[in-house]
Amino acid sequence: MERRPIIAGNWKMNLTNSESIKFLDQIFQMSLSDNVEKIIYAPSLFLKDMIEKVTTSGIIVGAENCYYEDKGAYTGEISPLMLKDIDCLDCLIGHSERREIFKEDDRLINKKIKALIKHGIRPLLCVGESSSEKDAGLTKDKVKVQIESAFEGLSRDDLKDIIIAYEPIWAIGTGITPTSSEAEETIKYIRDVIRGIHGDLADSIRILYGGSVKPDNIESFMAEENIDGALVGGASLNPTSYSALVNY
Ligand code: PGA
Repeated sequence: MERRPIIAGNWKMNLTNSESIKFLDQIFQMSLSDNVEKIIYAPSLFLKDMIEKVTTSGIIVGAENCYYEDKGAYTGEISPLMLKDIDCLDCLIGHSERREIFKEDDRLINKKIKALIKHGIRPLLCVGESSSEKDAGLTKDKVKVQIESAFEGLSRDDLKDIIIAYEPIWAIGTGITPTSSEAEETIKYIRDVIRGIHGDLADSIRILYGGSVKPDNIESFMAEENIDGALVGGASLNPTSYSALVNY
């Protein structure tokens, strides 16, 4: 099945508001492949301005995180309802930095995915093993549990638009990556896990690789059969390297 590739940037807590506007002004001058779906997950503070600015550019702007309740006494959080209200229809969920630093567990991530889907917001779910789990040979066990718990209570139809990113934690921001065939093996396994839950949904779901993706290694990952794109941190902060990734 044809799956449209995605190059997604995860800006994390890096650019300022004026830098985010400058990034867009510069990227609008560049020619970007139409064959690739282009998403930038940006800090919630800039989402409204960025969404108003990207209009017809072909770039989609998403949130990096959100809570699962619509409203209430949750100081510092933003809700899917708030995202929807500013036409933000994409959201990253379960990034390893959220899991590790902010102690998000699989149950919370499942609630967030349900809340996003209820509001018509497309989640990009991140999964992946730590370096000690890799060394212990637990990569497949870890991603299986993460996928199964994230999907719990959701139907095939609920999950039809979800995007998955396989991000080995040891590869994030380190300059170290698995080989493309190692990444392919785990991503193919994730597809098999999805097939076990929801049958041929597995053939249409896009699964990305993330962790130290750069313009000089993107091609090898994109050449793999089951890798449908990349989730990119550091190399997405600069319009020149982001456009090089999109035009791989
Ligand atoms: P990196 O980050 O590309 O800087 O390794 C990837 C991510 O955290 O999504």
